[in-house]
Amino acid sequence: MITEKFKIVNDNIERACKLAGRNPSDVKLIAVSKTKPAEMIFEAYEAGLIHFGENKAQELRDKAAKIDRNIVWHFIGHLQTNKVKYVVKDAEYIHAADSKKIIDEINKRAAKEEKSQKVLLEVNVSGEETKYGLRTEDEIFELTEYCLKQTNIDLQGLMTMAPFTDDEKIIRAAFSGLKQYFDKLNSNGFNLKELSMGMSHDYEIAIEEGATMIRLGTVLFGARNR
Ligand SMILES: *Cc1c(COP(=O)(O)O)cnc(C)c1O
Repeated sequence: MITEKFKIVNDNIERACKLAGRNPSDVKLIAVSKTKPAEMIFEAYEAGLIHFGENKAQELRDKAAKIDRNIVWHFIGHLQTNKVKYVVKDAEYIHAADSKKIIDEINKRAAKEEKSQKVLLEVNVSGEETKYGLRTEDEIFELTEYCLKQTNIDLQGLMTMAPFTDDEKIIRAAFSGLKQYFDKLNSNGFNLKELSMGMSHDYEIAIEEGATMIRLGTVLFGARNR
């Protein structure tokens, strides 16, 4: 079942890349397995998926302990300082850092694990009150510079969630806004690689706007009942 869904998604990714003149190999597909059992992850892995995303610290820890495959784990949720210890051991990427306090804690834990932790900064492009993330260019530049001073943080890029709406213009504006911050940072000498944006209902738009990582749950695993 997942094999068919994966194929449909792949076709859509290829079409969006073609439209945008991009190479599909420049887009990492992260299968968001939150709330889904290990069996579904095994099945998805057999179908060829390698990147998996979780948004709860203990859930990531427990799944990583249980699933002995060569999975690249992504922590995509909002992280609290006291949960960082569960995540740094297993997550190759942490997507949603948005404060010095959380960067400090990740840096400290990564030093203990003797690893360089790949991190993305979450940006709240549309300024929605309900969302986490950095809101202004100044905040983004400041935290980017701060990350580069930390010995065990490997800053990879930026992440955002578009507003939940059917209005394509609003979604596109959020993604292109993130891309503009990304380009501006890189033209100021930062060397960011990843733009994590796009979920089940908007990933094709995200690809057109430059996403290098898309995070898909529902279209791969079906609806979550939580
Ligand atoms: C749950 C989640 C996703 C996946 O959402 P779908 O709409 O099911 O694709 C992507 N990103 C984040 C941060 C999430 O929490």
